[in-house]
Parts: sequence; C-alpha cells; structure tokens
Amino acid sequence: MTYDYILVRYGELGLKGKNMRQFIIQLQRNIKAALWAFPNIRVNRTQGRLFVELHGEEAEPIIEELQKVYGIHSMSLAIKVENELEEIKEGALTAMEQNEDKKTFKISVRRANKAFPIGSQEMNQILGAYVLKNVNQLTVDVHQPEIEIRVEIRERATYITTKNVDGAGGLPVGTAGKSLLLLSGGIDSPVAGHLMMKRGIQLEMIHFHSPPFTSERAKQKVLDLTKVLTEYGGPIKVHLVPFTALQQEIFKSIPERYAMTVMRRVMLIVSERISEQEGILSLTTGESLGQVASQTLASMNVINEVTNLPILRPLVALDKSDIISHSHTIGTYDISIRPYEDCCTVFVPKSPITNPKRDIVQAFESKVDFSQQIEHALEETEQLVIQRDTIFDPSFDDIL
Ligand code: ATP
Ligand code: MG
Repeated sequence: MTYDYILVRYGELGLKGKNMRQFIIQLQRNIKAALWAFPNIRVNRTQGRLFVELHGEEAEPIIEELQKVYGIHSMSLAIKVENELEEIKEGALTAMEQNEDKKTFKISVRRANKAFPIGSQEMNQILGAYVLKNVNQLTVDVHQPEIEIRVEIRERATYITTKNVDGAGGLPVGTAGKSLLLLSGGIDSPVAGHLMMKRGIQLEMIHFHSPPFTSERAKQKVLDLTKVLTEYGGPIKVHLVPFTALQQEIFKSIPERYAMTVMRRVMLIVSERISEQEGILSLTTGESLGQVASQTLASMNVINEVTNLPILRPLVALDKSDIISHSHTIGTYDISIRPYEDCCTVFVPKSPITNPKRDIVQAFESKVDFSQQIEHALEETEQLVIQRDTIFDPSFDDIL
C-alpha cells in the first residue's frame, strides 16, 4: 500500500449549482494541461472530488504544479483501498506507520457511500482500536491530535489521507469567459492578468510596439511575460500591433499635453476591434489609481469613452509595493525590470495632462483621421500562441 493518489478538493465550485459540472470538467482539463510533463498520470472525476492517479510518478513536483491551478481548494496524498473492512484497517495502519514521529492521533471517517454497511462512528472506533493495538506508545486525542487520519469511504473505493496542502483557490481558468489584457513590458499589467485568471478569466494579450524605436528584445520581453502566465492557465494567444505610424501621427497632430490621452484612446479602439474579431467581451489593464498622469479618474473617464467594453482594472486599489511583491510571487518581476523600452516610454510627452476634458480631446481628434492607420495596424497585427513548452498536446486545442 502506498500513496499513489492525490485527492483534489475544489472550493467555491460547490456554489455554482447546475453549472458545476462544466466547472469541474474545466478544472479537470486544466489539471491535465498543467501536468502535461508527467505522461503516466491520469486525472479522474468522481462525485465531489477529482483524483490524480500517480502511476509511479513522484508526488512532490506534481503537487507543486497543482498549486498553480485555480479552482483547487486543497489536496492530499491518498492511499486507495477497496471498500473492505480489512483493507481499510490496513490502509489506516500504513498511514500511521508512515508518521512514526507522531504520538497522538485521531481517526475521522466520512462515509459518502451509504451502502457501506458500517457507520462512520463505529468505523472510527474499529480503526482507532486497530491502530492502537499495532503501534506502540500511541494515544488517541480527539481534540488536538498530532495527526488526523482521514478515511473517505466513497462509491468505488476508500481513500486515506493525513495531510492537507492548500491549493490556489479561485475559479478554474476558462469558466469566466475571456478578457483581452493590454500587456506592456512593465510590472503592473502581468499582475493584473494574473489576478483575472484567478477569477476564471482566460486571457488573450494585446501588445503595442513601435519598431524600430522599440527593439526585438522589448517584444521578446512581452512574450516571456506571457509564457510565465501560461503556467497558471494554459496556452495564450498574443496580438502584436505595430504602433509606430499611429504614434507618430498622434504626436504630430495632437498637442503634446493631450498626446498621451489620445494614444490611450487609440489603443482602446484597436483593442476593441481585436476583441470583436476574437469574440472577447472585456479588456483588462494594469492601471492603478493615481499612479501616473493617465491613471487619474479624469483620465480614465476620457480614455474610457471610446469603448463600451467593460475594462477590468484589478490593480486599481493596490499600492505599487503590493503590486511589486505580487509580481515576485508569480515570477514576472525579473522579466518586467529588463531595461528595454516600450512604445509608451519612447514617445513620452514631457508633461501629460492629469485632468483632460472630453470636449477638448474630441475637438483635437476631429481634425485628424486615424481610421486608415488603424485599419493598417490591424492588418499588420501579428498573432501567435504561446505555450508553456514546446511539447503541445493537440487534445488541449479546445482550450484556446
Ligand atoms: P505597466 O507596468 O503595466 O506598464 P504602467 O504603470 O507603466 O503599467 P502605463 O504606462 O500608464 O502604466 O500603462 C497603463 C496600462 O496601459 C498598462 O498597465 C497596460 O495595461 C496598458 N499599456 C501600456 N502600454 C502598453 C503597450 N505598449 N501595449 C499594451 N498595453 C499597454
Ligand atoms: Mg508601462
């Protein structure tokens, strides 16, 4: 008897009523995708639980991967035995014997399978007595045991666990629809994307770049950031929009103080067009209230005017220091601080307005026609799909 299973518990999913089945199927799919590098494992569903069958794979690295999968509340290594009293007794004993250092214990039986003939209270006593008889210097402590041996008697088998590992919580990526993340090379936007993924959002990325003023390395930085985020939710489609001509036009024809405002508006117009093409119903940005000139309420108000899509701004109320520590945790910080310039730092006005007015912006824009250049940028937009690693299982194709 060995720990050859990982029992996966999902949290909030329980609340989702009749959508629950879809949620669980998505979670199962995300788990499979996250564990692509372990070819022997199997991921199965039974009522109320998911199981990862290890088939000889080492548990540790698998649990590490599972800790990045949203929708998992907690997980435990489990011994699986037949629904036979003798087998269950041996299983409980094995679990105890593998925790030699523990001196007090408690058995907690959950009988999900009501067809099993012995009640959970009686099972607690039978198993407790059996373990006590076979292990020296051990006592029962029902209030504060050093180890709790949990026995779940289910439909087809019984699972015995001793430790709980926390999962990442949240909702399975893909259950809350898609959002187009405006991804710069900075610290904030990858964190914003990560937070939305945690609420079940599947991301696509849009990045505006301005060759030759921005380098290949700046573009690579954005692809590398995307790659980190794929670890949390599978393959991600990236739209790379050439923005040089539009930016030059904006900075030529709009007074400098308003150039940044107009540039943001044009970014949103292009983002909305891409969203329409892709059937995406929201945008996400890394804006945080008051952080820079374009992130005052007045600016957001004027910039927002060009689109009806909801703009998700998960960082709006966070301090920069919190955003930075989040980016360390998810592994994007070191990429974000690579020194390559993005389009907004190349074409930066000296003193952008913090309190722009809608009618003034509209008056400036009415004298220029960006539409042709917007069409051109859309035509020239490069699309690619970033995957965690080069090996890609086509059966996950429908994740995109
Ligand atoms: P970040 O750290 O994400 O770059 P920031 O603090 O530098 O944010 P801004 O430069 O004002 O703030 O950008 C605000 C948001 O606009 C970014 O978080 C991002 O969502 C979007 N954005 C900025 N530049 C680009 C770009 N080149 N391509 C796509 N989105 C961008
Ligand atoms: Mg930036």
